[in-house]
Amino acid sequence: MAKIIDGKKIRDYNLEIMKNEVSALKEKGVDTCLAVIIVGDDPASRVYVNNKKAACEKIGIISREYALPAETTTGQLLELISQLNADSSVNGILCQMPVPKQIDSQLVLDSILPEKDVDCFHPVNVGKLSIGSGVFMPCTPMGIMKMLEYEGVDVAGKHCVIIGRSNIVGKPMAMLMLAANATVTVCHSKTKDLAAITKQADILIAAVGKPKFVTADMVGDGAVVIDVGMDRDENGKLCGDVDYGDVEPKASYITPVPGGVGPMTITMLMRNTIAAAKEQNNIEK
Ligand code: NAP
Repeated sequence: MAKIIDGKKIRDYNLEIMKNEVSALKEKGVDTCLAVIIVGDDPASRVYVNNKKAACEKIGIISREYALPAETTTGQLLELISQLNADSSVNGILCQMPVPKQIDSQLVLDSILPEKDVDCFHPVNVGKLSIGSGVFMPCTPMGIMKMLEYEGVDVAGKHCVIIGRSNIVGKPMAMLMLAANATVTVCHSKTKDLAAITKQADILIAAVGKPKFVTADMVGDGAVVIDVGMDRDENGKLCGDVDYGDVEPKASYITPVPGGVGPMTITMLMRNTIAAAKEQNNIEK
């Protein structure tokens, strides 16, 4: 039977530490502030933004919301970002994705000052991540590293197989695992004989976006299985990329959905916002 990695418990543990960091900054005269932009009325985006605001409130970070109508143009959004870039009371800026189709999302991400890019999506921060010199860490992958660290799973020398090569999960996950001395294989939709590769994984990370995609025959005995997926099953119920019931008996550790990786992503956003406030005020980490 696998040990279940409880993302909520690890979130609470990390947020408690961060609450003290935010208080310590306040004592030094620094009010940590995150600006969150939401465009349109996508219900999932609204839930994510509300959760981010709630996490900020929990640890004393000021959250400022900028809700723009669905018909906002790229130019209007860039104008707001330019104002926030120039506002020294704002430490971090994030624009909730996806934005409506008429907006050039890459231009938007590129326009956030790298020093305030707490999602770690700006090309400068992606580049820094790849050479190991970044202040910001990609939120979902870093959340996974924190979970493994909390559970005492040493990744050095282990074979980590990642299914998925997206810019927000798969690729930065590979960078963090490499930096932690894992041997990394990244798989994608063109990978041949996927199961033969995933079975070799000591640590298997699924970031595919397909419900219950990873089944027991794709997993080696005793593997650590991390499920990034946030999918809907045939009944519309939230589930992951891993067929939990099928895979759990073979795994040594496994993350559930919900309650696994999800809570850690927002926690790492808080980490990055605090890092931004420290960096902008020349306060040591
Ligand atoms: P994405 O951009 O759609 O990327 C999916 C990746 O899976 C792509 O690289 C794709 O390969 C690969 N893939 C698709 N079908 C495959 C197959 N049959 N075999 C092997 N690889 C296959 O998705 P994402 O943004 O990385 O998100 C992945 C999942 O994580 C989604 O369910 C998303 O909702 C969830 N997510 C959760 C969190 C969280 O906080 N928990 C954060 C971010 C994302 P190609 O590149 O070849 O197309």
